[in-house]
Amino acid sequence: MMKVFKFGGASVKDAASVRNVAQIIQSFKEEHLVVVVSAMGKTTNAFEEVLSLFFNRSEKAFDKLEGIKQFHFQICKELFQNEDDPIFSDLHNTFVEAEWQLEDEPVGTYDFEYDQLIGLGEQLSTKIVAAYLKSVGLNNLWLDARDVIRTDNTYRKASVDWNETERLIQERISKAKENIIISQGFIGSSSENFTTTLGREGSDFSAAIFASTLNAKEITIWKDVEGMLNADPKYYSNTVKLDNISYKEAVELAYFGASVIHPKTIKPLQNKNIPLYVKSFLHPEKEGSLIDQNSDGDANVPSYIHKENQMLISISSKDYAFMDEVKLARIFTLFSSYGLTVNIMQNSAISFSVALDYQKEKIDQFMLELKEEFLVSYNLGATLVTVQHFTEKLLANLLDGKTILMEQKTRSTARFVII
Ligand code: ASP
Ligand code: MG
Repeated sequence: MMKVFKFGGASVKDAASVRNVAQIIQSFKEEHLVVVVSAMGKTTNAFEEVLSLFFNRSEKAFDKLEGIKQFHFQICKELFQNEDDPIFSDLHNTFVEAEWQLEDEPVGTYDFEYDQLIGLGEQLSTKIVAAYLKSVGLNNLWLDARDVIRTDNTYRKASVDWNETERLIQERISKAKENIIISQGFIGSSSENFTTTLGREGSDFSAAIFASTLNAKEITIWKDVEGMLNADPKYYSNTVKLDNISYKEAVELAYFGASVIHPKTIKPLQNKNIPLYVKSFLHPEKEGSLIDQNSDGDANVPSYIHKENQMLISISSKDYAFMDEVKLARIFTLFSSYGLTVNIMQNSAISFSVALDYQKEKIDQFMLELKEEFLVSYNLGATLVTVQHFTEKLLANLLDGKTILMEQKTRSTARFVII
């Protein structure tokens, strides 16, 4: 039975990291593996900058692209002693594709051009990893995810056509003679054969798509942390690893904003009851975290989720009327037309409050429109904290000295908007 691995950008950020990935794969070489890899290091961000320069018609787009090229070639020079290795011409051709795109005026929308260009990051990383594995004797098949992950044409957040994807993946993989398959995270293709992407950090989801359609035995997401932690070490000291939590708990944590796993990853795995391991690529011998159907461990450790840069908006009607369903429906239509996601909401008779991620480009215009119809007040720079499996004592510590702008509690979850 298949195992699916996912290696993120940090695990392939330089030549030493690629060697480390090869070592991990080496120790599983008797198994059937599908290995999904993200773009190297911060390549996706770098491509995003290229695109924005391109849309500003700035020549600097080419300089920035040249930087990405140097970065990948430098890694290859360290990995491949033989300068004639086909990887060099392979990479070269991929960059020629990018240069062509930048030489013309943009032909499609920003989102369309985005997917055509940004998806190259995963092409590059997987070509390098696949070639390197070969060079150390690990035979493998490089599979273009665009040949098997079929999506609609909603560029930048494409929806997967599950039936077609399952058929294509099963067909391609059953034909493969190699027992190691290397493929890209993040990308797929539309039925017109254009590259699509599944949303930032979407490679976890790609790995789950492979696992689910192949009825894999298990999936492992290799990270630079020892597993799923109960809090982000950026904000909290004394974090602890969650040894075993249920799919449901993992979905809740991801929904509240825990950034360890892409939120869409869990559902396909839960549906097929495929266990998900989160392990450290720096310490592959350590146990990591396990996410499966077992919920016994869910409440063992309280988890903290921190979302900064929140805008709290309070909305009421201009004539002191109730905030009824019709008004709420109007407000939600506005949210969705601006692509704004509500992180938490609360209502009283005459006012309705929400916290959202403050994204200036979208929100300024949204606020103008909202103010035409409603009375609006807001706070910026707030933080949304969620404590899963809280105790009153933990909350008292957490909230000490803070101003609470909004508060919500259920039996297991406490959420606060604070400044
Ligand atoms: N490379 C893409 C990103 O940085 C996808 C991923 O890493 O999961 O968003
Ligand atoms: Mg990543």
